[in-house]
Amino acid sequence: MTEMLDIAVIGAGPAGMTAGLYGARARARTVVFDKGLPGGQIVSTEWVENYPAFPDGIAGPELGELMHKQAERFGAEFRTFSPVESIRTAGTDFVLTVDGEEVGARAVILATGAVPKKLGVPGEAEYTGRGVSWCATCDGAFFRDKVVCVVGGGDSALQEALFLVKFASRVHVIHRRDELRATECIQEYCFLDDKIQFVFSRVVTEIVGEGGRVTGVELASTKGEPDILLPVDGAFIFVGVDPVNELVVEVADLDAGGFVRVDHNTLTSVPGLFAAGDISNGSLKQVVTAAAGGASAAFEALRFIEAKTRDV
Ligand code: NAP
Repeated sequence: MTEMLDIAVIGAGPAGMTAGLYGARARARTVVFDKGLPGGQIVSTEWVENYPAFPDGIAGPELGELMHKQAERFGAEFRTFSPVESIRTAGTDFVLTVDGEEVGARAVILATGAVPKKLGVPGEAEYTGRGVSWCATCDGAFFRDKVVCVVGGGDSALQEALFLVKFASRVHVIHRRDELRATECIQEYCFLDDKIQFVFSRVVTEIVGEGGRVTGVELASTKGEPDILLPVDGAFIFVGVDPVNELVVEVADLDAGGFVRVDHNTLTSVPGLFAAGDISNGSLKQVVTAAAGGASAAFEALRFIEAKTRDV
């Protein structure tokens, strides 16, 4: 083993960065591993207006950068582009494999988050990157003066639709019911925008294209109406999220959706392994609750380490 950490945090989104902050402030040797740069999903969120202390909202990347700086200021170490390949228990400790090297940790906080779900319809894989996208912030600018659709009726779909109107001439929001799931306030912004049109009670059955680019989506009705082909140049898909749980599928208890089961103190089914943020079951999937989960997980990890030290 190359080194022994007090707390290994896996994932540098808001939950992981906050766990890093709390661990480091308690003077525990805390390392936050991420397969990319710090920030997590907020890096691709244009504007966050429900994180307390920012009355006018704050750009997602800026909020991520502030959290990163704050954790580093207290001594949390960030190892970027360092994917953790595996976790196993070793007595009451853990062994992580990172870049082929084994790293020991006295407690582990899993904060690997979640990724957007796929629709699973014909054309989706074929046209990914050629009109099909899961990130308006990343790809929206390619659709200047074009017609796009957004699939889904939750916060992500509507928030991304509001971003896409900056570029697209028309944004169709396709939702399988006639009632939206998104927070009322986000719905209101969308209803006020002339460029956004809702297509209710329809599901995408196929994404069609020509010449290697998306040209439309086939829509079936959930109310027995005839199928229609909606011409679009791009399709942005926001139909929920899947947990990033590969590391712990064999290690910890998961719920039916694959989210890691935690108690109210973020403890998983494995002593010393905590989970925070979107990966944990029952999470509200908000930046503020991810940060709160990260704080609790670090606090509990410190208590776990202290108890082990006492028992030795
Ligand atoms: P979500 O809240 O689960 O919404 C997913 C949407 O996709 C729902 O409207 C759902 O329809 C629809 N859907 C699911 N499967 C589908 C399918 N196969 N075909 C067609 N439609 C399908 O997911 P999300 O919007 O990605 O948000 C995830 C979490 O992050 C939520 O807790 C959300 O509140 C949070 N979030 C918050 C913010 C914010 O605070 N600003 C921003 C983004 C996300 P039904 O409604 O019929 O189930």
